[in-house]
Amino acid sequence: MSKIRILDEQLANQIAAGEVVERPSSVVKELVENAVDAGSTTIDIVIEEGGLSLIRVTDNGSGIEGDDIETAFFRHATSKISSSKDLFRIASLGFRGEALPSIAAVAKVECVSAPDGGGLGRRLVIEGGTITANEETSSPQGTDISVRELFYNTPARLKYMKTIQTELGHIADYVNRLALAHPGIAFTVRHNGNMLLRTLGSGDRLQTFAAIYGSATAKAMLPVEGEHPDYELRGVISKPEQTRSNRNGITIVVNGRYIKSFVLNQAMLQAYHTLLPINRFPLAVLELGMHPSLLDVNVHPAKMEVRFSKEAELREFIEDAIRRALGKQRHIPGPAAPA
Ligand code: ADP
Ligand code: MG
Repeated sequence: MSKIRILDEQLANQIAAGEVVERPSSVVKELVENAVDAGSTTIDIVIEEGGLSLIRVTDNGSGIEGDDIETAFFRHATSKISSSKDLFRIASLGFRGEALPSIAAVAKVECVSAPDGGGLGRRLVIEGGTITANEETSSPQGTDISVRELFYNTPARLKYMKTIQTELGHIADYVNRLALAHPGIAFTVRHNGNMLLRTLGSGDRLQTFAAIYGSATAKAMLPVEGEHPDYELRGVISKPEQTRSNRNGITIVVNGRYIKSFVLNQAMLQAYHTLLPINRFPLAVLELGMHPSLLDVNVHPAKMEVRFSKEAELREFIEDAIRRALGKQRHIPGPAAPA
């Protein structure tokens, strides 16, 4: 008798969820990235009890067509790529079609969405992978997803959750960085009714930075700029006197995606070189743009790790740009040239 069988969809989704949905901040990340991909200009995030009782993300993006709302929750269902060629030029934050089915496998989800100016939309309720409602409803344009009782059916995972403060810390950290990556989007974050973050979405990077780190810190930052045939760099870095005891103040954004990159971190630290006291790190936001073909984001389900195709060249470019930004700062102007 054969012993090998193909797992049913819900079980497969639950297994995938183990990777995609590690903790409440992973749900926030996936929902917010979908909202960004939908071209939203406002994204409102409501959290209760560190995200374990509620994570709600409301956007004003393109919305989901009524006929698509169930499909969006199927595994490997995505509107963002369609052929393997697309994998080598990914311009969206998502593309794996795994987030919604994974989240719905380990929580109780309600999704209300309307495209095309809103009015008539659809409301889908899905609990532990089973659809319990799919009905017409009135809705403004955009998508409003509520995720309740995360990990209610995976007690082993629930047991690993830390305190509300710790989970909230992970959420705030992620949203702050995504807001820095997208200064054109107005973000709000509320936890148990308290406003934790509000960015204006004016497109001004330094204004978003000030909303997160305070305006005094923002004023003291140095601008960074770099141009190269393959890359474009913009951002702000702290003066060597304003250091921190860890690397958490470093945010690197590539094509709108917040990433973790040891290589680029090192390039930046190399540029500060002896200006930094030992075991001290700068505060920095680096926003890097490049053609999507120069970057492989399909490395890990969370897509925070990427591979660059011309790594050495990129490292040098970043190092040079930062050195120039720091050099300008140290340059003491001499006497004015005679007229
Ligand atoms: P992916 O983002 O990798 O495509 P998801 O499971 O996160 O996969 O989402 C599945 C699909 O549902 C998306 O491709 C998109 O078409 C749709 N979708 C999800 N969230 C939103 C949203 N906030 N606004 C518009 N469409 C959405
Ligand atoms: Mg997604």
